[in-house]
Amino acid sequence: MKHIILGNGPAGVVAAETLRRAAPGDDILLVGNEAEPPYSRMAIPYLLEGNIDESGTYLRKSADHFDSLHISQYRGRAVALNTDKKTVLFDDGHFEDYDRLLIATGSHPVRPPIPGIDLPEVQTCWTLSDARAIAQLAKPGSRVLQLGAGFIGCIIMEALAKRGAQLTVVEVGDRLVPRMMTPEAGGMIKRWVEKQGVRVLTRAGVEFISRSESAPLTVALSNGEKLDCDLLIVAAGVAPNVAFLEGTTVHVAKGVLVDDTMQTSVPGVYAAGDVAEAPDLFSGRHLVAAIQPNAADQARVAALNMAGGAGKSAARMKGVLAINVLDSMGMISSSFGEWQGVPGGDGVEQADEANGRYISLQFNGDVLVGATSVGLTEHVGALRGLIQGKMKLGVWKQKLLETPTRFAEAFIACQRPNS
Ligand SMILES: Cc1cc2nc3c(=O)[nH]c(=O)nc-3n(C[C@H](O)[C@H](O)[C@H](O)COP(=O)(O)OP(=O)(O)OC[C@H]3O[C@@H](n4cnc5c(N)ncnc54)[C@H](O)[C@@H]3O)c2cc1C
Repeated sequence: MKHIILGNGPAGVVAAETLRRAAPGDDILLVGNEAEPPYSRMAIPYLLEGNIDESGTYLRKSADHFDSLHISQYRGRAVALNTDKKTVLFDDGHFEDYDRLLIATGSHPVRPPIPGIDLPEVQTCWTLSDARAIAQLAKPGSRVLQLGAGFIGCIIMEALAKRGAQLTVVEVGDRLVPRMMTPEAGGMIKRWVEKQGVRVLTRAGVEFISRSESAPLTVALSNGEKLDCDLLIVAAGVAPNVAFLEGTTVHVAKGVLVDDTMQTSVPGVYAAGDVAEAPDLFSGRHLVAAIQPNAADQARVAALNMAGGAGKSAARMKGVLAINVLDSMGMISSSFGEWQGVPGGDGVEQADEANGRYISLQFNGDVLVGATSVGLTEHVGALRGLIQGKMKLGVWKQKLLETPTRFAEAFIACQRPNS
C-alpha cells in the first residue's frame, strides 16, 4: 500500500507518523512545497519576538527523524489530481501514483484586490519566508500598518510591538476579532491593545497603497486618512489550498468536505487540518476549524482509516468544536462552539472591564453550546468540557444564568450527576 500525504504542516506530519505506527510495512510519501523542514506556523510570533530561532519552529527536532521512520519526503506543489488513475501531478511535471491520499495542504492568506498590494513592503505573516521579510522591515521605530484584526492579526500584534514598531491596526469590523468574539469582548480587546500603545481604527479599510517621497508606502484608508508606513502586513483572512482539486469529484465547498472518518467524497482520498471542512459538534454542518490541535486530531483519525480502519472499526471524529484561544498583547480571550447563540436558546453575559474579565454563555435547552471569555485563564478548560461533553446542566443552568462565572463548579457538579 502506498500513501501520499500532500502537505507537511502539523496535519501532514502527524498523519505520516500515525500511519507509520499503524501500517509498519506501507510506503509513505510526505510532500511539502516550502524550502524548510516541516515547521509550525504558530511558532512564527515567537520567532519574530526573538524568543526562538528558525529551528525552534521545526515540528521535529532531529534531522533524520523522517528517514528513521522510513517516511520518504518530496518537495513539490501538487497541481492536479486524477482520482480514476490515482495519480498526483506536481509542478515539476512528474506524477506519483497512490493507493490512499491525504490532502493536508492547509490554507493561504488572502490578498484583497487593493491597488499597490503587490509592493514588496506589503507582506503577509504566514510562512517562514514571510517572517524573514517582516523581520527585515519591522525595526524599532518602524511604522507598521496591519490590515485585519482577526485571529492571526491579534496574535501577531504583540510580536510587532515587541520589535519596537509603531503599530496601527485597521479592521473593517466594528471591533477586534469580530468573527470570534462578541461585541463586548471584541471591544474590550480593542481598548486593551490601545492601552498598550497600538492605534486601532475599526470600521475602516485600506483603499489604495502607493509609494511616496515621505515613506516607502503611503496608504489611503476608507476614512479619508493617509498614513505613511514602512511595512503593511495583510492579515485579512485565509482560503484553503484546493486549486489542484478543480475538475475532480472531490467535493469542495470552502474547504474539502469530509465525513466523520475524514474521508472525502472520493473513497481512499482523505483530508485533514486547515484545508478540511468537517461536520461540527452541534449542527453537523461543515466547518473549517483552522487551529493546530484540530489539524493534529483530524490527521490522526484520517491516518488510522488510511491504514485500514473501515466500517465499525473506522476511527471517527466526534464532531468539530470551534475553539479559539487568543493572547492579544497579554489579554487572554477564548470563544467556543456556538458563541453567538442559537435560535430559541438563552444566553447570559457579564462584564467587569475594570478587572479585564468577561463571560458570555449560550445555552440550547439545558446544554451549554457556546461561550466567550476574556481574562478568565483559570478553569477555562471547564467551559470546553461542558460544551464538548454536551453535558446536561439540570439545575445548574439557572445557577449559571444568575452567576455565569460559576462554570467550573457546574462542570464538576455535572460530572457527578447526583450532586
Ligand atoms: C502567525 C500564525 C500564528 C498562529 N497561531 C496559532 C495558535 O496560537 N494556535 C493555533 O492552534 N493555531 C495557530 N495558527 C494556525 C495553525 O498554524 C494552523 O491551524 C496549522 O498550521 C494547520 O496545519 P495544517 O497542517 O493543516 O496546514 P499548514 O500548517 O498550513 O501546512 C500545510 C502544508 O501544505 C503545503 N502545501 C500547500 N499547498 C500544497 C500543494 N498544492 N502541494 C503540496 N504541498 C502543499 C504547505 O506548504 C504547508 O507546508 C497560527 C497560524 C499563523 C500563520
